[in-house]
Amino acid sequence: MARIALVTGGMGGLGEAICIKLAALDYLVITTYSPSSTKGPAWLEAMAQQGYNFRAYPCDVASYESAQECIAQIEKDVRPVDVLVNNAGITRDTTFKKMDKTDWDAVIRTNLDSVFNMTKPVCDGMTERGWGRIINISSVNGQKGAFGQTNYSAAKAGMHGFTKALALEVARKGVTVNTISPGYIGTKMVMAIPAEVLDSKIIPQIPMGRLGKPEEVAGLVAYLASDEAAFVTGANIAINGGQHMY
Ligand code: NDP
Repeated sequence: MARIALVTGGMGGLGEAICIKLAALDYLVITTYSPSSTKGPAWLEAMAQQGYNFRAYPCDVASYESAQECIAQIEKDVRPVDVLVNNAGITRDTTFKKMDKTDWDAVIRTNLDSVFNMTKPVCDGMTERGWGRIINISSVNGQKGAFGQTNYSAAKAGMHGFTKALALEVARKGVTVNTISPGYIGTKMVMAIPAEVLDSKIIPQIPMGRLGKPEEVAGLVAYLASDEAAFVTGANIAINGGQHMY
């Protein structure tokens, strides 16, 4: 029977590539979209035309109640989740001097609280069944900090603390918990940066001299989701073209 992979924010740049990769590996792929978003049906239709029959559920990952309802509905309609990819995220960049509480709360809730909200309703089931994968999409900026991103850097760094602590708790139950920290990946979010800024400021920071591809991150997700990765847990795997090494 196909394993169920739930990818939050699967309609975004990285999430879509992750959904496609996991579908190619015969996972039954489910994604979430913000309840306020209008793109769900159109995205599903576009994917169906490419041969991908994804399921999608509305879910505000920043809300514990919404996450619980979403997981309960998936378990009712399909089966329990085997692989959870906590990918949904936002930025609200500004210097700390200008950052207000709303910018802080939105980013912490969407990027960090979401990891608790989504993992909580699936984790016990994974440990009871003796198999599970939790994969958290963090960022190089959670490893090294970034100007104008105190909120985002804090949230993304927090994801890895969560990863390490939960990995310890479930290590003997067949469940692995890992973080992926991408550098600059050529999604719409990054391609919206003016070309001259990309060329003069961003690409020069990357020893490989190019942006990453969403498919490269998706390949790493697929590996961590696989049986072959059973001994990898509590890891933070950088995928950044050499931009930050430690
Ligand atoms: P996108 O903006 O393309 O996608 C983000 C996704 O998150 C969207 O599908 C969005 O759904 C969803 N989302 C946002 N808020 C919520 C919410 N409250 N509830 C449910 N879903 C929500 O970004 P990327 O694909 O580029 O990024 C994906 C992840 O990778 C993020 O966590 C990001 O921080 C991280 N990352 C990205 C990098 C890059 O270079 N692109 C680099 C390092 C990390 P909707 O549109 O329906 O709101």
